[in-house]
Amino acid sequence: MSRIVMKFGGTSVADLERIRHVAALVAAEVRAGHQVAVVVSAMSGETNRLVALVDALDADRHDGDTAKGGKISDEYDSIVSSGEQVTSGLLAIALRRRGIPARSWLGWQIPLRTDSAHSKARIAEIESSAIGPSLDAGNVAVVAGFQGVSESASGQRRISTLGRGGSDTSAVALAVALKADRCDIYTDVDGIYTTDPRIVPEARRLDRISYEEMLEMASLGAKVLQVRSVELAMNYRMPVRVLTSMADAHTPNPGTLVTDEDESMEEQVVSGVAYSRDEAQITLLALKDQPGMVAKVSRCMSDADIIVDMIVQGISRSDNTANLTFTVGARDHDAAITALEAVKEDIGFNAIKSDTNVAKISIIGIGMRSHTGVAQTMFEALADKGINVEVIATSEIKISVLIDEEYTELAVRALHSAFGLGG
Ligand code: ADP
Ligand code: ASP
Ligand code: MG
Repeated sequence: MSRIVMKFGGTSVADLERIRHVAALVAAEVRAGHQVAVVVSAMSGETNRLVALVDALDADRHDGDTAKGGKISDEYDSIVSSGEQVTSGLLAIALRRRGIPARSWLGWQIPLRTDSAHSKARIAEIESSAIGPSLDAGNVAVVAGFQGVSESASGQRRISTLGRGGSDTSAVALAVALKADRCDIYTDVDGIYTTDPRIVPEARRLDRISYEEMLEMASLGAKVLQVRSVELAMNYRMPVRVLTSMADAHTPNPGTLVTDEDESMEEQVVSGVAYSRDEAQITLLALKDQPGMVAKVSRCMSDADIIVDMIVQGISRSDNTANLTFTVGARDHDAAITALEAVKEDIGFNAIKSDTNVAKISIIGIGMRSHTGVAQTMFEALADKGINVEVIATSEIKISVLIDEEYTELAVRALHSAFGLGG
């Protein structure tokens, strides 16, 4: 008998009809003799609705507010985690109505312990001492995804959440903790595609993808799996399958297996194209060209808890100054500008220029390690479409470029076809 974790995202539990359908998929695995833990997201749109409620109150913030600048994230977590509580209870009922013994589990009941970085908490530990025996006794565990419990130094326990898309991470982490044989992520597409099928209809489903490539794809914008879930799967060698929840239990549903790489995967030079519109470009003009300047800028950003992604420096020959361009998440744009303005004198630059209408387009493939000419194909394909490249970043298995956001779809399509990724 094997143990499996099945995860269902928002569209898969969007209404009672879909929840009944999920119960049927779970029932089929139980009848096949598996022990099953299910992880569910909130009904589609629900988390956005809850976040909007919090944002609306945040807009009332006044000068004396103790939550300086940021969200009151412990309360944010207790609000936005509630969507998953509802779906876990509903699915447990739907299962029982089919005669399958099931119960819902909230993060604190397992418990799934996290650190105290509310709204983007990291899992510290998942206890299996209660849920494991419950599975052994033949019950289906329906776990509310996205949520856990944090404990402060003074012993206060609060609900925490794992960041948007975090149910994927709940599922993989639970699969690891329960020593499951695999983790099946059911969603609204039938697998991982060569690029987002919503943008490129010719995109092709991959039968398999390596952990490393999937990690890059997710980090570079493909929101099909949360980055942290792929990290965990890779670290613990947990096989993850991405498949559709829209089919019935009898239709073949191979999906995409995220797994260790093998030689056949290297034959494909580029496996996928990813894009992210959540980028902001910042340029510091006429920065003194002296040792330590870039270090000062990056210290300023890390002090403000802002992650710097792509960086490029251009030196002006005439006056010993440099322009430093880098990117941060679009969400962090305003905070970055405020932090930089505050140290303008100290660091010594003339002005700040910034732009949030930029997008990062990336090609990913482990085959890049052993093939040449990949960058050239990429740049030529973009040039053919008249797309200007602002910043470039590379690693062993990816090349990313920053472009005008307006050309996002054009660039993704051009690269998808330049690397022959279509069906
Ligand atoms: P869920 O609600 O099930 O967690 P998500 O919306 O988080 O689903 O993720 C699924 C979506 O990810 C798909 O509908 C698709 O538009 C998008 N996506 C982006 N890149 C890819 C890709 N390379 N392959 C498959 N889906 C992708
Ligand atoms: N419901 C949460 C979100 O929308 C978590 C998830 O769906 O994975 O981000
Ligand atoms: Mg998701």
